[in-house]
Amino acid sequence: MPCKYLSLSGMGTTLSIALLTAGNAQAFSDIDGTYLTCQIEQNGKVIQAAEINGTPPGGFHAYGTVVNGYPTIIYDVYKMMQLPIPARRFLFFHECAHLAFGTSSEATANCEGIREMRRKGMLSSAEEAQLRNYIVSLPAQDLEHVDGPLQWQRMKDCR
Ligand SMILES: [Zn+2]
Repeated sequence: MPCKYLSLSGMGTTLSIALLTAGNAQAFSDIDGTYLTCQIEQNGKVIQAAEINGTPPGGFHAYGTVVNGYPTIIYDVYKMMQLPIPARRFLFFHECAHLAFGTSSEATANCEGIREMRRKGMLSSAEEAQLRNYIVSLPAQDLEHVDGPLQWQRMKDCR
């Protein structure tokens, strides 16, 4: 997918959560009450990634992929709702970074994700502590998804 970073998101007004019952997340507002959209430059045009409720592969909470040629973030909305809000937001930014940078690197998506949260003022020290607690709890899954403490070690200073 030829795409490059343009803008990970915009913030606007809060939307309702009614769409969830239709099985469609549509925008991140449905998951944490903050209106965030994942915007990606693709072939010279800015497009907004689709966000849908579904079953991400590998048991993940969220997964950025391309569906019918269209960048899409699949959320397991039920699982997402179990996480503290800073962790939900981070997963949005992480998946959006995969799509916006066209990268499968977990280290890059982690770094760009937390960097964007900091840029947007969405990571107070209390929120960062919640995010750290979530990240360090993650088990190693494969060579890319290293264990949580190592992930945090690599991402905590991304600015
Ligand atoms: Zn990832």
